[in-house]
Amino acid sequence: MNIGLLIAGGSGKRMGQDIPKQFLTVNEKPVIVYTLEAFQQHPEIDVIAVVCIEGWENMLSAYANQFNISKLKHIIPGGENGQDSIRNGVYSLREVYGDDNIVLIHDSIRPMVSPEIISDCIKVTKKEGCAITVIPCAEAMLETEDDYVSDASYPRDRLKRTQTPQGFRLGEICDLHKRALEEGITNSVASCTLKIEMGERVFFSKGSEKNIKLTTVEDLDIFKALLMAERSDWLK
Ligand code: C5P
Repeated sequence: MNIGLLIAGGSGKRMGQDIPKQFLTVNEKPVIVYTLEAFQQHPEIDVIAVVCIEGWENMLSAYANQFNISKLKHIIPGGENGQDSIRNGVYSLREVYGDDNIVLIHDSIRPMVSPEIISDCIKVTKKEGCAITVIPCAEAMLETEDDYVSDASYPRDRLKRTQTPQGFRLGEICDLHKRALEEGITNSVASCTLKIEMGERVFFSKGSEKNIKLTTVEDLDIFKALLMAERSDWLK
């Protein structure tokens, strides 16, 4: 079984709005509903779970009913940071589902995730035991200590930009979180960084520039433009 675990436990402070960014409405639909629909419509996804910010659970249920998200079976409380929220999610799922099931952990604020991205993440997770959605790094990369000046560059060919979904076997990701806590790792920014901080390797699946993460108000403008964009049919 393949489970989509959407992470929506954050308050989205950087967006600077009163409504958490995953619940902001774009073209009459909340951001999280776009994300839910992507998983609902994917034939290989059997179950959806959401780690939800406190106080918004009823709203989430209502939206799921309104938009026919019939695969949504679990709403799980968020935590203090992303690592806590993901741990709450995977631990809750393990109470219900066996260790060999695949869980795709996905930011609820990446509403443009495509069927191809989800499929490739599942495929690589089945083969390698985990899959981190990535895209190439097109820009020149510079290091800085102070946000003002740089005297060091980093070869972009050796870098990947990570996105979500990030796929794992349920038992393994739960064990990873348990061991991380025991080793005092409590605030890793993502599942891929957690695995690497624990001395393990991760494998890549294919992402897309369009699979944007909505962090700032500017990203909402880009999201709206992407919703309207249709590729010219003469492009190869
Ligand atoms: O902070 P960042 O933008 O990297 O958050 C990525 C994801 O983690 C978002 O979907 C956010 O809702 C979630 N998150 C969470 N619980 C927190 C903080 C962030 O689920 N306490």
